[in-house]
Amino acid sequence: MVILDGKGTSDQIKLEIRDEVNKMKLKGERVPHLAAVLVGNDGASLTYVGSKVRSCDYVGFKSSLIQFNNDISEKKLLNEIKKLNHNPILDGYIVQLPLPKHINEQKILLAIDPKKDVDGFHPENFGRMALQLNSYIPATPFGIIQLLDRYKVPTSGKHCVVVGRSHIVGKPISILMSQKRPAGNATVTLAHSRTENLVAITRQADIIIMALGIPEYLKADMVKNDVTVIDVGITRVPDKNNSKGYSIKGDVAYDEVSKKASFITPVPGGVGPMTIAMLLKNTLLARQWN
Ligand code: NDP
Repeated sequence: MVILDGKGTSDQIKLEIRDEVNKMKLKGERVPHLAAVLVGNDGASLTYVGSKVRSCDYVGFKSSLIQFNNDISEKKLLNEIKKLNHNPILDGYIVQLPLPKHINEQKILLAIDPKKDVDGFHPENFGRMALQLNSYIPATPFGIIQLLDRYKVPTSGKHCVVVGRSHIVGKPISILMSQKRPAGNATVTLAHSRTENLVAITRQADIIIMALGIPEYLKADMVKNDVTVIDVGITRVPDKNNSKGYSIKGDVAYDEVSKKASFITPVPGGVGPMTIAMLLKNTLLARQWN
């Protein structure tokens, strides 16, 4: 069994990005600049944004954290988005989700200039990704295909079952895995909460990508021998033995499933760190493309 080490792979990708940035600096070029928009002070969002900003520093990018109070109006936020779209020294930016209930997330995401949409959530980028044109691939699916590719996990002709159909993970990764590309060419089944007899489907899978957000949902009796398992899930579960009061669980019962797997991602240390590395990669692409 091979553990797909997302931490190590993401470190490698960050070093590659840092090399590119150093080359830019030597040529006297402007380094990539990423901004993160954060509304309110949700603990998890602050943690995610904080680690994105730290990663920018590490690779030599310029970064900006733009924070607004929880009660900012939708109109004011749209105005701020407009300003970011027109900022010539900003290559890309992300709006950290979720947004407060009184703000329509779709409206905000649609207002982002697709050229600066390094999260790849804008319909223009989603469409370009589906058509295999140059685009920003959403960071989590981008990280998954990088991991599969760098570990040379066989995917061509394999049956890949994706569980979860969110716009940011399940749906895009199901499209990518079916495309003619390295870490692609798979025959894909996309499962969700209405799927009947999921176990019969996962038992046929050569590759399973779990992205539903239910801790340890995938058990050993749901998979066949030598399966490849990618665990996207991140759920905080109360844990008295942990000083933080919680521990992080994936969607896979790792201890039992790993015994049957040929390749598997751990949680933490699998898909999570890859997501940040690929956001940096998209920002570098934004600097190079625009
Ligand atoms: P969502 O929470 O938006 O959607 C969950 C999906 O799972 C839905 O499509 C839902 O089906 C499906 N689902 C729910 N219950 C079941 C079930 N019993 N059987 C089959 N399918 C089911 O998903 P996200 O993609 O946003 O997040 C999924 C997980 O991944 C979360 O734990 C999240 O924290 C994590 N995540 C991790 C990232 C990383 O960097 N590692 C990045 C993004 C997310 P339906 O559509 O029918 O409701």
